[in-house]
Amino acid sequence: MSVGKNLLYEGKAKIIYITDEPEILLAHFKDDATAFNAQKRGRIVGKGEINCKISQLLFQYLEERGIRTHFIDCPAPNQMRVMRVQIFPLEVVVRNIAAGSLCQQTGLPLGTVLKQPLVEFYYKNDQLGDPLLTRDRLLLMELATPEQLDQLQQQALEINHHLSEFFQSCGITLVDFKLEFGLDTQGTIRLADEISPDTCRLWNSSETDPNNRVMDKDRFRRDLGNVENAYQQVLERIQMRIQGLEVRGQEKGEL
Ligand code: 5GP
Repeated sequence: MSVGKNLLYEGKAKIIYITDEPEILLAHFKDDATAFNAQKRGRIVGKGEINCKISQLLFQYLEERGIRTHFIDCPAPNQMRVMRVQIFPLEVVVRNIAAGSLCQQTGLPLGTVLKQPLVEFYYKNDQLGDPLLTRDRLLLMELATPEQLDQLQQQALEINHHLSEFFQSCGITLVDFKLEFGLDTQGTIRLADEISPDTCRLWNSSETDPNNRVMDKDRFRRDLGNVENAYQQVLERIQMRIQGLEVRGQEKGEL
């Protein structure tokens, strides 16, 4: 592939290439890691492949449960073919347990279990530092229509329902996560970007120590060490769980 010619966009964690097919893009997952609006930079060896695989498995899991995603297939371990969508310039964050900016901005103690999931919309804009939006600001800026906003909220909650249950069965607590959505050529909303330890807070359910339990990018953000191991652990647990589900599905089919 003549990389220079086909490059569409290079982000912090992925490079997006155009392909011979106009409706299909190729996402290359990088090992590069950034945090705090790219003020902290590093490299997590093997992260590209791990995050690509985790995203693939979770997109497929969600598709099987009726969530439409941009996922097509993975032609290489760190590459994903995806449907071209027009991305909403929004980061949709869902929270089950208080952590990160929710604690910083509200004073809620870390680890507070929320009575119901919280869905938040942030403006995807590095220059402005991805500010938290109100519904009215989002509509004022015409970042989505009121109907689309309701659909994004609804889909985010559905995805949270499926992922929370899935991670729980892997012995992992889904604390919070960030989603991105886009519109396909038919005007249908599809889940895009990635779902990985870069974009989720994941705590080992059997561990109570606030540092030892962390299995996600907070290990990099907070210099906790063993980042590669944690990401690998998440992948292995997901793979084991999915294999288990497939075996159960086959056994049911044979009955
Ligand atoms: P917080 O607002 O607490 O910093 O982040 C909430 C959740 O969304 C965390 O799981 C975090 O990883 C994810 N998140 C929020 N903004 C970003 C972002 O710009 N990049 C990535 N990779 N994840 C984000």
